[in-house]
Amino acid sequence: MQMKRSGRIHYLAVDFDGSGRSVQGFTTRREGVSRPPYNSLNLGMNTLDQPSNVEGNRSILTRAFGVNQEALVSVRQVHGSDILVIDEPNEEYDHFSSVESDAVITNQPGVMIGICVADCVPILLCDSVKGVVAAVHAGWQGTAAKLAAKTVAGMKSLFGSDPGELQAAIGPGIGKCCYEVDAPVRQAFLQNGIPWDSFAEARDEGKWRLDMAAANRDLLLSAGVPASAIQVSDMCVCCRKDLFFSYRRDNGDTGRQMGFIMLTQD
Ligand SMILES: [Zn+2]
Repeated sequence: MQMKRSGRIHYLAVDFDGSGRSVQGFTTRREGVSRPPYNSLNLGMNTLDQPSNVEGNRSILTRAFGVNQEALVSVRQVHGSDILVIDEPNEEYDHFSSVESDAVITNQPGVMIGICVADCVPILLCDSVKGVVAAVHAGWQGTAAKLAAKTVAGMKSLFGSDPGELQAAIGPGIGKCCYEVDAPVRQAFLQNGIPWDSFAEARDEGKWRLDMAAANRDLLLSAGVPASAIQVSDMCVCCRKDLFFSYRRDNGDTGRQMGFIMLTQD
């Protein structure tokens, strides 16, 4: 992953094998139109930012990749484990914004899937053989629910993707350096059979520092994605105020960056 510029936006670009079958990356907060504390490329509708500014920012993103704003699919993220599947062409995708879901899979070229985050980990998946892409929202609930692995399984069962041929990118979320959690998080992981001690470091009594990126990498490995095909960002959104929004750092009053992926038109 490396910082790139496309149109007006600065983003963390992900190169999936150079097949050129998809474009994807993780946005930063730079070069948008929103005012503090949403400055400036806030892509999250579910904030107190002016909707017209968020619309403007979404338009900056889609235009940077040559599509209309109507091509951007984002869903109502609820820290659940439902997956939205888009497998037929549509005139416009705005109506999906009310669909409660935390992952999206599509085989439709020209549809840009966007997952909004500000601490949670955005995960992108690409099957360039079958032409299927996905994006996942993984906070601690989504991680405990193994949503990344479920999404891989969905790509396999619905579109015949071979997990061994998938490529994955785990984008910037809150790092272990800044993410202190308590007992309910540990309990949720253990209940679902996730080896807590591999990803969490004990701090004070009843407190741990959790590495969500590492836990999600492990989920992808367990789902059959090869280690060599998984890229992981080493940036912490809480540490990098210059580049990213962080819900925890900014006490909830902040914007959202986006993990996005789109199959290119043939
Ligand atoms: Zn940090």
